[in-house]
Amino acid sequence: MKPKPDSLIAYNVLEKKIINAGFCTLCGACEAACPVGAIQLKGEKIHRLHDCSKDIDLCPICYEICPHSEALLLRSLSFVADAPARNEAFGYYRKIVLAQAVDPKLREQSFGGAVVTSLLKYGIEKQVFDSAIVSQSEPENPAKPKPSVALVPDDILSAVGSKFFPSSVAKAYGGAVYGYGKTQIAFVGVPCHILALRKLEAWQHKISGNLKITIGLFCFGSFSLSPLLEYLEKKYKIKPSEIKQMRLSSKFVVQTEKKVIRIPMSEIEEHILPSCRTCTDFTSEFADISVGSAYPLKDWSTVIIRTKAGEDFFYDAVENGIINTWVIEQEPKVIERVIVAAMQKRENALREAKELEEVYGYIPIRLLRETDALAHFKVKEIMTKAITTVPNNITVSKFLDLVAVHHHVGYPVINENGEPIGWVTLEEAAKVEKNKRDKTLVGQIARQKLVIAYPEDTALAAFIKMRKFEIGRALVLDPDNPKKILGIVTKTDLMHTLTKQY
Ligand SMILES: Cc1cc2nc3c(=O)[nH]c(=O)nc-3n(C[C@H](O)[C@H](O)[C@H](O)COP(=O)(O)OP(=O)(O)OC[C@H]3O[C@@H](n4cnc5c(N)ncnc54)[C@H](O)[C@@H]3O)c2cc1C
Ligand code: SF4
Ligand code: SF4
Ligand code: SF4
Repeated sequence: MKPKPDSLIAYNVLEKKIINAGFCTLCGACEAACPVGAIQLKGEKIHRLHDCSKDIDLCPICYEICPHSEALLLRSLSFVADAPARNEAFGYYRKIVLAQAVDPKLREQSFGGAVVTSLLKYGIEKQVFDSAIVSQSEPENPAKPKPSVALVPDDILSAVGSKFFPSSVAKAYGGAVYGYGKTQIAFVGVPCHILALRKLEAWQHKISGNLKITIGLFCFGSFSLSPLLEYLEKKYKIKPSEIKQMRLSSKFVVQTEKKVIRIPMSEIEEHILPSCRTCTDFTSEFADISVGSAYPLKDWSTVIIRTKAGEDFFYDAVENGIINTWVIEQEPKVIERVIVAAMQKRENALREAKELEEVYGYIPIRLLRETDALAHFKVKEIMTKAITTVPNNITVSKFLDLVAVHHHVGYPVINENGEPIGWVTLEEAAKVEKNKRDKTLVGQIARQKLVIAYPEDTALAAFIKMRKFEIGRALVLDPDNPKKILGIVTKTDLMHTLTKQY
């Protein structure tokens, strides 16, 4: 029998482009989605149990569902795209707040706001959902996540805290549907986990209808389990079974019964999974609700509410006294940290992807690419008109207060006549030393290089200019009066335009 072409059997592409290329983050979505049970995720490896091409002629599922393939992205984004606000750091959102569990014991255990644990416990107790997919700890190796189907509050409580290694939560989701017959499932995971679930929904896979709510975690990356544990054993004489907890603050903190060591991230970053280096999503942009730390505030979490379902569930828990909230605009340092982390992650990922592409050719990751679809839209149809400009003579401190209120990442800088003279971004402002922020003016740090677009340009032309100058936003000027700003167009606006076609 003639072998079937690679493109007809998705596994061949998955194996070549994702698994063998080192992009797999072991979520198990391919196993959960495979219609003939041909894939199994065991330990730190994907196994092909049998050659599915003998059963079927054509199957695109496992590659399309994989969060590291380029497929189904726009359709997945459409699940959050009705939110009223969007920007380059947070994605689509309705509200951003600070939150914490009312229960102080939970906060102590989580080393954060314990918002995720409190929401899940509340949801199970009130029967908002019938189960939740969480990552507990392996008893003999507490740093290692044990993906589990939580059925009662105690299962949720034993999953409190972050484990910084891959967790096959999408496989556990499949187990909840097939093994336990659950129909209203809450799901917690890092951004690539959430995307895998959204792709199942976009595909209209039969198990996707059982998903009730997704809670995404912010994520800088996950470590390769065995290499990092071996490193800790060799350098710090810490056996995996002795690790009580790992947590992230300004350093990576490893705690045992006897000692606490604080490791600079640069020392262990070589053990971060290859896929994380080209991952652009920091804040779980596809989730109903996203949760991350609220550094430098202890005991609080940053919560981004994206969907109506997420909003209803979150505020139900607030109204029932489970969660406290606080206005994030009162804490500019928290907003600054989240935006800077998100933008740095995206920029590093794009740089890494470009380098990889030059060496290996096309790599399948989540980037906005040049597409003819953008030629159908004019800049005037997609630009943001209500813009906030920043005078060049205000201080960096004043600018940071302004960012906390408006949440945008980049702002056009204007001179005393109201004419555009450059851009200022939060990242540039954050680089100014704290004790110099009251004396440094925005005009001194503004980027002079501007990408200019005009209302009648196509979105494609604007995108090509942005890519050429490696700037994620363009200023839209009035062609009859080039000193008058009419709006801004960002890569996020372009993505939004494409998403709206679904
Ligand atoms: C790999 C990883 C990297 C992260 N990086 C950052 C970061 O750079 N910046 C930042 O602000 N926040 C990061 N976070 C999120 C942060 O550590 C907290 O998880 C988040 O702030 C929620 O806090 P909480 O107190 O509400 O969570 P908790 O109430 O303690 O609940 C945590 C939940 O996370 C789930 N979980 C734990 N480990 C995993 C895992 N490996 N995969 C999937 N689910 C898991 C558990 O099931 C649990 O329900 C990261 C989390 C992970 C897992
Ligand atoms: S049958 Fe399973 S392994 Fe084969 S291509 Fe489809 S999803 Fe992939
Ligand atoms: S779906 Fe998940 S487990 Fe499967 S190849 Fe992709 S990342 Fe790996
Ligand atoms: S950085 Fe991206 S790919 Fe890596 S674990 Fe986090 S979400 Fe997944």
